[in-house]
Amino acid sequence: MRNKKVFIFDVDGVLLNLWQVMRCAYEDFHQIKISEQEWEDVIDDFLHNPVPYLDFGNYFDNSNYFGSLPPLSDEMLFLPANLRASGFDVAIVTSTNDAPEIVEARRENLRVVYGDVFSEILFVGRAQSKEKALMSIAQKYEMSYFCDDSLKNVVNAKDIVTFSIWFENKHHLFMLKQFDVTNVFSANGVDEIEQIVKSTSDSFRKIIRK
Ligand SMILES: [Mg+2]
Repeated sequence: MRNKKVFIFDVDGVLLNLWQVMRCAYEDFHQIKISEQEWEDVIDDFLHNPVPYLDFGNYFDNSNYFGSLPPLSDEMLFLPANLRASGFDVAIVTSTNDAPEIVEARRENLRVVYGDVFSEILFVGRAQSKEKALMSIAQKYEMSYFCDDSLKNVVNAKDIVTFSIWFENKHHLFMLKQFDVTNVFSANGVDEIEQIVKSTSDSFRKIIRK
């Protein structure tokens, strides 16, 4: 018999605060200091076209910064454990570089911040699609949630998981025009994720009892 429910997290920009640390790495790499606005512009530029940033990406992946990302927020720090306590398995699908030493550094970073709360952590490789990995997890459960700050990832997941939740990220807004976001939930903060989980698990229970 399948387990009941799973919540699958993205890592960068959802569980861990990538951008804050990446800014320091970017300044080191280029030997410059940049303002908050200049960094915001770099993020926007990177998301529109990551190709010019490949060298920096390799530098970051192999730097000490990579394995020491902080949690996204104090609220997020408790969400995976709270979900576990309310009957969820908690899993991760991340598109981080899947080289063995990178995977090990990221696993250790997650363990230090979140403890041993995750039942599965799947690395699909940088910029790779998450669909296969999501399917391999979701098919083991009656009900599955997936939360990612990439609009593209949540739209691609909406027919794979039961509930696909976009963790709102202003840098991804430019993609809104490109995707059909029907049936994608949107959460601005951890409290809104919790509300979505609460309202949908209740309605789901009602549906399967019929
Ligand atoms: Mg992300």
